[in-house]
Amino acid sequence: IKKKLHLNQLSDVVFQLDLEGGLKYTLFHEIPSHKVISGNSMVALKSYVNVLNKYFPFRKEGMKFISKVYEEIYKKDDIGGSDFEALVSHYEKKYHSVFLYPQGWLGCRGSQPHYRGFPCSLWLIFHTLTVQAELHKNKYHDSDPKEVLHAMLGYVKHFFGCTDCSQHFQQMADSIDQDVHSLEGSILWLWKAHNKVNRRLQKDKTEDPKHPKVQFPTPSTCSNCSINGEFNDKNVLNFLRAMFHNISYLHLAAN
Ligand code: FAD
Repeated sequence: IKKKLHLNQLSDVVFQLDLEGGLKYTLFHEIPSHKVISGNSMVALKSYVNVLNKYFPFRKEGMKFISKVYEEIYKKDDIGGSDFEALVSHYEKKYHSVFLYPQGWLGCRGSQPHYRGFPCSLWLIFHTLTVQAELHKNKYHDSDPKEVLHAMLGYVKHFFGCTDCSQHFQQMADSIDQDVHSLEGSILWLWKAHNKVNRRLQKDKTEDPKHPKVQFPTPSTCSNCSINGEFNDKNVLNFLRAMFHNISYLHLAAN
């Protein structure tokens, strides 16, 4: 695969398989693990499904799937976790080939099963959504530029199973309203936030030794993203736009 893509590292390519694997885990495991979703967690669920409906790079059947799920939950004030699971299962069966098959991690695959996987895919999903929101700005010109970040915050606060991660992220997210005023700003805010997490987790026991935490992108991944050791935001923005727009469908070798 590396040869085919002319790459040094598979982890610098965004695979549809990883995005869908992460998305399925949120819809079929993390959200349904709540007995009842109501109040603020229902607001968070609606915001999450709303940004997926607008910006997740689904194929045709996937778009029908997510728009039906959005339509169904939008009119509700609350929903049981098992009812939500029944809802997504129903529409997954109704629209064939919503998700790619076979499934498994590809860019997010760890050197051992307990490394990487879902948390890696969750970052990729939200980076992708920030970039896709900018690409779709003419279609949704009245959208709030912070819409994706607030949806991410809501998801992480109410549904992300890693409690420590959630608390750290909520602290960082305090600065969103003050710092973000545009769709470009939203892409860059998330990139910077992710790098802060990368820095904090360097040499942590959760770090996959085969995928060390780095300040991303490294000069070997993007040669003009840093100049004299300092990131150049404009060049990083262009790099992120390309990375999270050109999603790879190469997936057959995952299993
Ligand atoms: P990840 O950090 O998951 O990155 C996935 C991919 O994103 C990389 O392979 C790379 O291609 C790309 N990438 C890397 N950095 C950037 C960047 N700055 N901008 C854009 N793309 C980038 N774990 C903890 O132990 N403690 C925590 O507090 C914690 N907080 C988290 C908060 C959130 C919101 C999330 C989603 C995860 C958190 N995690 C935390 C998990 C942790 O950040 C990693 O996801 C996990 O360790 C797997 O790391 P990874 O090597 O797959 O790379």
